[in-house]
Amino acid sequence: MTRKSLGQNFLFDPAILDSIIGASGVTQDDTVVEIGPGPGRLTLLLARAARRVIAIELDPKLYGKLQGELIGRENVELILGDALKYPYGELGPFKVVANIPYYITTPLIFKLLESKADLRSMTLTIQKEVAQRIVAGPGTKDYGVLSLGVQYHAIPEIKCIIPASAFRPVPKVDSAVIRMDIRKSPAVEVADEALFFRLIRAGFSQRRKTMSNSFKPLYENIKEILLELGIDPGRRAETLSMEEFARLADHLHSKI
Ligand code: SAM
Repeated sequence: MTRKSLGQNFLFDPAILDSIIGASGVTQDDTVVEIGPGPGRLTLLLARAARRVIAIELDPKLYGKLQGELIGRENVELILGDALKYPYGELGPFKVVANIPYYITTPLIFKLLESKADLRSMTLTIQKEVAQRIVAGPGTKDYGVLSLGVQYHAIPEIKCIIPASAFRPVPKVDSAVIRMDIRKSPAVEVADEALFFRLIRAGFSQRRKTMSNSFKPLYENIKEILLELGIDPGRRAETLSMEEFARLADHLHSKI
């Protein structure tokens, strides 16, 4: 019996599991964190590919079974717990490779990106539509807070699509393997990060509005400010690049 509430859709096809390992670029020098090892097929391949594997599983039943399967695998540390609560900041350099439960996708990605941990990359199997939103660029329907939030910290790339039929039980949607290489420093330099993300959230809260309307509750004279910066106030925020959001945030910061 699998637990739907824990996002338990498992992968057994060796070719697909190999392609996840290949996409991750994991080498014998790496420490890898796997979130949700489940029945442990990916875990066993990671144990072969990496120096050390830390696998965090929330379900006590799966944890118990996997403990037995991992006997003799000295480089795998199996942890019973919630991946959203794990202290990643205490690890040395590490990569994440995981077929994660859909229900924690966004909180997990942001916990890892904002943890200040020594995270080098994340290779995640996630819902295809979410992966498309992560890699999206300005002016597209998928572009939004998630795209900018991830692209600020990382360089994302969709590596391959995994059809729903490859999972057991079969979920309702297809998945994608996305790799996010963490940047050494954020994609843009901003004086006030909180203000930068406040603007982004305001810009996308009502996508159909022009910027002069969507930013008006924050800044009464936004139209003049945008004109000063050479940005057409009639544009929608969904057409602004990250650099333009940064320029706007810095300009507003300088006026405080
Ligand atoms: N890695 C396995 C595979 O590819 O077949 C299982 C993937 S399944 C999509 C997700 C796994 O994450 C399940 O084993 C589930 O019990 C576990 N899980 C769910 N929520 C979790 C959490 N908050 N922390 C750690 N593991 C979790």
